[in-house]
This record gives sequence, structure tokens and C-alpha cells, in this order.
Amino acid sequence: MSEAERTAAGTAAGHDDLGAANHSPLRVAVIGAGPAGFYAAEALLKGREDVSVDLIDRLPTPYGLVRFGVAPDHQKLKSVTRLYERTLGDARLRYLGNVEFGRHLTADDLRRHYHAAVYAVGSPADRRLGIPGEDLPGSLSATEFVAWYNGHPDYQDLQVPLGATTAVVIGVGNVAIDVTRVLAKSNEELAQTDMADHAVEHLKGSSVEEVIIVGRRGPAEAKFTTKELRELGELLNADIFVDQADLVVPDASRAAIANDVNAQKNLEVLEGFVNQAPTGKPRRVRIRFLLSPVEIQGDGRVERVVFERNRLEERGAGRVAALPTGELETVEAQLVFRSVGYRGAPLPGVPFDDVACVIPNEGGRVLHEGQPLRGAYVAGWIKRGPSGVIGTNKADAMESVAALLEDAAAGRLAEPPEPSTAALDGLLAERGADPFDASEWLGLDAVELAAGAAQGRPRVKVVGVDAMLRAGRARASEERGE
Ligand code: NAP
Repeated sequence: MSEAERTAAGTAAGHDDLGAANHSPLRVAVIGAGPAGFYAAEALLKGREDVSVDLIDRLPTPYGLVRFGVAPDHQKLKSVTRLYERTLGDARLRYLGNVEFGRHLTADDLRRHYHAAVYAVGSPADRRLGIPGEDLPGSLSATEFVAWYNGHPDYQDLQVPLGATTAVVIGVGNVAIDVTRVLAKSNEELAQTDMADHAVEHLKGSSVEEVIIVGRRGPAEAKFTTKELRELGELLNADIFVDQADLVVPDASRAAIANDVNAQKNLEVLEGFVNQAPTGKPRRVRIRFLLSPVEIQGDGRVERVVFERNRLEERGAGRVAALPTGELETVEAQLVFRSVGYRGAPLPGVPFDDVACVIPNEGGRVLHEGQPLRGAYVAGWIKRGPSGVIGTNKADAMESVAALLEDAAAGRLAEPPEPSTAALDGLLAERGADPFDASEWLGLDAVELAAGAAQGRPRVKVVGVDAMLRAGRARASEERGE
């Protein structure tokens, strides 16, 4: 029987092994310590007094995309971690960093040790363009570039060829803007942030002069938020260029954004960019629309991108689609970032929707063949897809936890055979896991903050997993007076 089939059997089991309505305490594993995992943990702790939460992450460090996704020059957005620290400090919660679901723990293990599991693992992969030349050296996914400059241990060795003079960023979402800012800013600006040292150092040698952001639909359909778009016009090191001819907004688009304040403001900002006179700053940022990449070309590395011009057409339900016109345009560029969205990946033993790339669910209850899978819940991007801002995950996780607590109260959760911390810890030891706890993380945090303070930066990130474990543990044992 495969793990998925056994999982299914859990759904179909009779009611004889159902837990009583008052589990004490209710043991819940939250898999993934990004924003969705933290909001789920917080909702559990607030929702029920007698609850015990294990918050598990495959990396030693918590906070997911707040640490490895949010741009290093957007420190304010990271202040949300102060709220997560409060959750970490709750005695009913254990943080188990450096423990990987699928390697150290399976879905079956979770059923043995917990009443319920909340999967909050995010969307770790990137979407592909599916065009020739996509894998040429010099063509990178924005998601891996972001992970690299933010010091994600899996991406520290990424090769980023910055000898290019022109970089093309495909996609008009907020990640495209983050990547563009990082490429456009001066090294002095970047060196004041918490960008990983290896990235600051490498970007020092960048010869990029122009960054071209390209959308396949029109300006009204762009996904970026106005605040982020506006920032592109305020760069100290780069002038912004937008052609009036690119700002095509047909009636269908106007109608589609009639109630979308963000899209309307975006149009205003883009119109403003048209009239912005260049001031001779060292770098240029250009925003283009209505172009779909059809091929990335070059002799052994990226030399140019071929685009096909699109026109816009209403396709029902207010959706404005890009249709190819057959007219081609070639842009000389030596570096390409595909910034077309993140993508969820399947977890072993957990249902997965291969088309939407999410864990199928109804209001956060995981579904297997259309039926709720007992004791399994989902929150965040792996529940709804990679959309929204950090705060969007709060209501999302609260909905899932409300379903979980309702099921617990109604006696719909199974009583786990081994509901103890000691049993779980024994299993982790058997599997060779080396958990990094909250005090060790706080130790690493203190080390990074102190190194940052010494350099006038928010923090200096420790990048490798072994180095994180060493630094965090040394500091934690100092704190304990050892
Ligand atoms: P996104 O907002 O979904 O944008 C993806 C872009 O890629 C869209 O413009 C999309 O165009 C385009 N695209 C998709 N497939 C394409 C293809 N085959 N060819 C050309 N273009 C294609 O994704 P994201 O930028 O990765 O951001 C993910 C989420 O994180 C978003 O919710 C974002 O707001 C959030 N985020 C927020 C911040 C912030 O608050 N500062 C920073 C970073 C990320 P179509 O619309 O035509 O599909």
C-alpha cells in the first residue's frame, strides 16, 4: 500500500478510533515556519488553552519568506517577526528547526504523534516559461536569485553572471520589481541592508546598466502593487523609462479595473513615468508591456530574447487576455530573470493538485478524493497558491485553524497512539535529525544582529546550515552561562 493509499485509508476509516471531543492537550504539528505557519500556530494558541504545538521547519531559521523572500531593502516589512517572536515565546509551543518533513518525519509519523497536522510549506519551486533557451547560462529564475541574495543556504552557490550590460526581467509582479531594484541599486545602498555578504560582494562587480521589465499583458493587468511600482521612480542610481505607446488600455481593461484601486493607481504612476525626464543616473530601468517571450537565444549563453507582440482581448468574466499578433521584437540582453511566479510542490503522503500546484482543500481541510482527510489541514501559499502579501496569510491560517478546532471539539480527530513529546523526540533521534530549538534560533538571531550593529546594518546573515547551528548553539550556551 502506498503512502497516499494509506493516507486515503485514514479518510475512510470507521468512527471507532475517533478521539473524544476533549483531547488534553490537543497535539498539533505545524509544518513550515513561514508567516502562514506562525499565524496558524498563533491561532491555535489563542484558540485553545490546552494545546501543544510543534512548529517544524526544514531550515534552522524560522520566518520563511520573511527571511528569504522579502527584499533586503524592505526592512520595515520584516518587523512582523516581532509578532512571531511572541508566538515562539509561548511555553505551549516548541520550535523544531532543521527537521525536514519527508526526510525525518512522514505523514504517518504525524498521525502517530499528533491529533492534527497543519501543512504550511509555501510554494518552493518556480514556474517555467516553457520556451526554447530557458535554461541557457544567464537565464535564471527570479525565485532562485531572490533566495541567493537573501542568503538561503540552498542557493549560496548559485552562479549569477553579472557581466551583462542589459538584464531582462520577465513578469510584472512584485518579485520582478524586487529583482529590478536589487540590480539597479548602487553597491553602497545594498551594503547597508541585510543582503547576504556573498551577494553584496558579487553585485559589486555588476556591469548591468539597463534593466527591462516586460509584461505579457497591458499596464492595467500588471500585478505589482502601487507602492512598489512608485519606488522604481525614486531610485537614486537609476532613471525610469516608460513609452506612452506601451500604455495600451482598451475599454475591456478599463472595465475590468473599474473597482481595482491598485490597478488604477498603477496606471497613474506609469503615466507619470512617461514624462519623467532622465537625469543621467548610472543605470536605467525600462518597463515594457504587451510582449511575450518566445525564445531566449545565444551561443552557449544568453545574448538576446525574442518577444512576440500581443494585443488584448476580453475573454469573458472580466478576464483580459493577451493574444499573439505574429509581430516579433528582439531585445539584446545577456541576463534574463524569469519572474513569473512561485509554484507549490507535492509532499510525500499528502494529497496534491498537480494542476493548481496546491494541496486540495476546503476552507483549510485537506481533501482526498473530494473528502476531508481526518486530522490534515493546510495554510498559506500551499493552500491558496502564491498570492497576496504577508498579512494575507493571517486570515487564511485562521480559517484553517478554526476548521481544525471545530473538528477537535466535535470529536472528529483520531486519538494518536503515541501523543508524547518524548516519543516524538525519540523518533527524531532515530532518524538522525538534529533539531534547532527556539533558544538556539534566538542565539543565532542575536549573533546576526550584533554583527549587523557593528557594521551599521540591520543584521549580517549566517548562511550555511552548519554555521547557523554552530553560531546559534554557542550563543545559546553562553546565555545559559555554560
Ligand atoms: P505574481 O504577482 O503572480 O506575478 C507574476 C507575473 O508573471 C505576472 O505579471 C504574470 O502575468 C507573469 N507571467 C506568468 N506567466 C507568464 C508567462 N508565461 N510569460 C510572461 N509572463 C508571465 O508573482 P510574483 O511577482 O512572484 O509575486 C508572488 C506574490 O508575492 C504576489 O502576491 C506578490 O504581491 C507577493 N510579493 C509581495 C511583495 C511586497 O509586498 N513588497 C514583494 C514580493 C512578492 P499575467 O498576469 O499575465 O499572468
